[in-house]
Amino acid sequence: MKPATPTTTAIFGSYVLFRRDGVQEVLRDHWVLLEGKRIAAVTRGRPRAERIFDRPGRFVLPGLLNLHNHCFSEAVARTHTEDGNGRRRNRSIVYTVLLPLTRRGIEILSAAERRAIARLGILQLLKGGATTVMEPFRNGMPEMFDAAAEMGIRFYGAPYLFSTADATAGADGVVRYAGDDGQADLAAWNALHARWHGRADGRIRLAMSPHATDTCGPDLLRACAARARELDVTITTHLAQTPEEVSTIRARHDGRSPAEYLDWLGLLAPDLLAAHCIASSDTDLKLMAARGAAVVNCPRVFARSGIVAAFGRFVAHGVRTAIGTDGYNMDLLGELNAASMISKIAAGRPDVATAPELIDAVTANAASIIRRPDLGVLAPGATADLTIVDLSRPALQPLHDPRRGLIALANRADIDQVVVDGETLVMDGRFLGGDEAAITAAGAAAIARIWDLPEARAAFDENA
Ligand SMILES: [Zn+2]
Repeated sequence: MKPATPTTTAIFGSYVLFRRDGVQEVLRDHWVLLEGKRIAAVTRGRPRAERIFDRPGRFVLPGLLNLHNHCFSEAVARTHTEDGNGRRRNRSIVYTVLLPLTRRGIEILSAAERRAIARLGILQLLKGGATTVMEPFRNGMPEMFDAAAEMGIRFYGAPYLFSTADATAGADGVVRYAGDDGQADLAAWNALHARWHGRADGRIRLAMSPHATDTCGPDLLRACAARARELDVTITTHLAQTPEEVSTIRARHDGRSPAEYLDWLGLLAPDLLAAHCIASSDTDLKLMAARGAAVVNCPRVFARSGIVAAFGRFVAHGVRTAIGTDGYNMDLLGELNAASMISKIAAGRPDVATAPELIDAVTANAASIIRRPDLGVLAPGATADLTIVDLSRPALQPLHDPRRGLIALANRADIDQVVVDGETLVMDGRFLGGDEAAITAAGAAAIARIWDLPEARAAFDENA
């Protein structure tokens, strides 16, 4: 039997983000030709194709990578924890709210409800312009994978591993754990890897995801690194999220900082993607840069708490830096705008966190961190993932520089078309693979069931 000829699609861009010799370049009035799941050509003349998208004013970018997101746990916190609510003595809500309520939620919800939450999150990610997501989540909701496979996003699932079944923080903010070795979590991770890694034509993959330095002991971290390297998968974790984490690790591990702790265990390396690092010292960041380890910066979730998480600080130390939304507000363009503004305020100067740097952080540089040279670039042979933004709208006109327009003025409302593996998943800003209103209502109803729990009511009590 003759193999089917791949479908061809031609997309016009008034602006097309190209790379020449590793440097960004904006091409004017070019076409991007897709053949099946690959980019076949970037041309000035209009190519022959079965499907043609020919609209002026659009900026065609490689698909954006959102390398840190939580569809479930941040949905639990959403609109409950702003303005300092739920934050006893101003401490992080990670251990007091997010982890315990997510754990309870997984227990009380049905598989259909957990899948509904996953679908609502993925809907937001796609409409926010992401074609790839790195999604760490708590074990017990394998429905994340089902939803990702069904909805078409490129998905790096990162089910957590803990050195305890029940990480909790005391009133002092210190996390305590029973000290088991996490072998049950490693077995669960291995089972998910066997079931899902490489599925949906390689769109679904796993990353190794020890939760954080204060919830994972040395034996588990060493075992995670060994297994990840055996399978050649990225390792992602939370690092230096709070000052309490830093003091906990120093007390537990001979005065080492969290970054030094990971370095001691052999994890600080180019295959590590560490979320946040806001409590990292300059020395820690220099060490991370020297080892080639990467940071994923999520500025808005920290801005919510009055904490500066400046993209520009990591870049200034030479650290490879990606950007993620942490699940708080899954608008990747909005997150880039926040990264720009917060970095400029933190540095007290306007020439840091420039538009090209921020675009690199969610395209080519992010792809290089997860070792996917076929992603994050528009080039013949690359994977056909595209994010297309409509720059013709009133809020984006007049326009001199499309990259500056994208960072300074655009947000998720300007996402016009999202393509993964050559398939258009979002068109005219609407998700094509399902009824948005139904997905939204089902996801919100499932989260409301968690909000009705007595422990949730207590955690979010405005008068406590
Ligand atoms: Zn996180």
